Amino acid sequence: MLPLDILEEAQADMINYKGTGMSVMEMSHRGKDFMKIAAEAEADLRELVGIPDNYKVLFLQGGASSQFAAIPMNLAPKGGVADFVVTGAWGKKAFAEAKKYVDVNLAATSADSNFSTIPPVSEWKLTPGAKFVHICSNETIGGVEFKDVPDVGDVPLVADMSSNYLSKPIDVKKYGVIYGGVQKNIGPAGMAIVIVRDDLIGEVADACPTMFDYQLMADNESMYNTPPCWTMYTSGLVFKKLLKMGGLEAVEKMNIEKAAMLYDAIDGSDGYYVSPVDKKYRSLMNVPFTLGGGEDLEKKFLKEANAAGLESLKGHRSVGGARASIYNAMPMEGVKTLVDFMAEFKKNN
Ligand code: PMP
Repeated sequence: MLPLDILEEAQADMINYKGTGMSVMEMSHRGKDFMKIAAEAEADLRELVGIPDNYKVLFLQGGASSQFAAIPMNLAPKGGVADFVVTGAWGKKAFAEAKKYVDVNLAATSADSNFSTIPPVSEWKLTPGAKFVHICSNETIGGVEFKDVPDVGDVPLVADMSSNYLSKPIDVKKYGVIYGGVQKNIGPAGMAIVIVRDDLIGEVADACPTMFDYQLMADNESMYNTPPCWTMYTSGLVFKKLLKMGGLEAVEKMNIEKAAMLYDAIDGSDGYYVSPVDKKYRSLMNVPFTLGGGEDLEKKFLKEANAAGLESLKGHRSVGGARASIYNAMPMEGVKTLVDFMAEFKKNN
């Protein structure tokens, strides 16, 4: 979801942005109006997250999936080993992609628990002198979320935050690279935001596409080519809104309350609804659950939920079941509607 007031603001400015006579979609990205939009978006994001000066902020096309390749090409330009901690489907994809560009070590995985937990850091088999350690801070499909930033010593920690970006405060200095697609918590699809410590960039692998060169992108303020203007603009509106709401602490508080309401409903259902995820690592954003009554009941649940206006509750095609994605813009009322529906469905079935 995007917040309704953001959609309305974008709608109001759609055809004639602040009296410029143009839509943001029609502007030159080198013109003063768009340059201002872009500069404000970066400044607001820096303020919102508290990004230190020695980190670059990049607005890049190609989503998070492109970063799976860009990261090894920037952080290990001459090869070396990269450690991966795989706690779900997205970490697995990042690992598979990195393998094309760097020697990879699977330092830890929760595959044997069907990605329902996070192996303790003390058990990770990290490589001394690794170029980086990669984690996925929130696995969108499995609903498994890191609750603390793992301490990996001096090796740069790289986190895919696609599905929990800006959902809670981020201690940027503990990371080498933070990245994620914006389309869940921030804005419309079409962009990834990369926050990278400046000493980690400068050199790229020989075969690195120009568009994946973080230093080049930083030198050009993400405008080496035509940037995703509309997505930058809309994301900028969301940054302003989150600042006005009181910043990421306030956002987190709201997200904790929303998630608690849903997990309580699942846990209090006497096994009618089941969360497969280790309680310690349950995601605040993606809540997968099954119905104890089996697949046919699940189908009925999803069909009736959809008819009741509860959209996109089907679990990812790779795992089935149900999944409620309760990203930042999902209001408490949305979760309440779901929880009420779940109780009613249980009573009737
Ligand atoms: N990582 C995670 C955690 C995701 O949830 C997704 C998208 N669902 C991706 C990466 C891929 O993102 P994109 O579609 O922007 O390439």
